Amino acid sequence: MTKNGTHSGQNSLLPSSAGFLETSVVEINEISADVFLLSLEKKFDFRAGQVVGIHFEPRPDARLYSIASGEKERYLKILFNIQPGGMLTPRLASCKKGDTLFTTTPFGWFTCNSDAAWWIASGTGIAPFASMFYSGLSENKILIHGGRSPDSFYFQEDFQKVMKDRYIRCCSGEHKEGLYNGRLTGYLKNLDNLPVNQTYYLCGRVEMVIEVRDILLKKGIPYRNILSEIYF
Ligand SMILES: Cc1cc2nc3c(=O)[nH]c(=O)nc-3n(C[C@H](O)[C@H](O)[C@H](O)COP(=O)(O)OP(=O)(O)OC[C@H]3O[C@@H](n4cnc5c(N)ncnc54)[C@H](O)[C@@H]3O)c2cc1C
Repeated sequence: MTKNGTHSGQNSLLPSSAGFLETSVVEINEISADVFLLSLEKKFDFRAGQVVGIHFEPRPDARLYSIASGEKERYLKILFNIQPGGMLTPRLASCKKGDTLFTTTPFGWFTCNSDAAWWIASGTGIAPFASMFYSGLSENKILIHGGRSPDSFYFQEDFQKVMKDRYIRCCSGEHKEGLYNGRLTGYLKNLDNLPVNQTYYLCGRVEMVIEVRDILLKKGIPYRNILSEIYF
């Protein structure tokens, strides 16, 4: 994270304190087209919202992934989508149970407490909020998730059951009852009187994070109350 709460680096910027641990694949499921939930043997404790580096060998160009499972869950779960032509994700998607991977120890400060806050994510940027949710931190949170199609709202059954109308799905590609039709930026622009003293957590691709940050600043949210995790 930088001073203003933005994670500043991609994959050669693993912190020197993050050592590699050998682990193995417990399960891998394609939960939506080209989107996978990978379960790994858990070798450490972590705080919901932290990230790990992952690779097939302990290498400095390991890619970074938010942990998607709860702090007390048995396995470490990672939500990722295939980047065509990418170095790691096409290979990761073809992993089988029992394959060996290396993860770094967890790191990062994109973590939250039990205070009221907003969780705003696009695509696989939902992962840290899933971790916070499954760690029991969703009670007074509002979760806004943006995706292209109705099947891009990963973990939606669980979020819906618990968070009810505090869980908003913004679907930009298709109309479907129960979903806001449009991008999450459109949804946010229409909200009035956002609480200025709560924290707004943003996670996803850089374009979304920058656009949402601008909207929140224009609505009077102080910069210090906006924390971002950018997926490069
Ligand atoms: C803090 C953090 C947390 C993250 N958490 C997650 C997460 O939970 N889930 C998730 O899915 N992702 C996450 N990411 C993104 C993740 O780290 C990877 O960047 C992503 O999975 C792609 O990895 P890859 O090795 O498959 O692709 P890369 O090899 O990094 O390539 C990405 C894209 O760039 C293109 N590309 C590569 N090299 C070149 C080149 N020289 N010229 C032009 N194009 C090129 C590739 O074709 C591909 O489309 C996170 C990133 C950060 C920084």
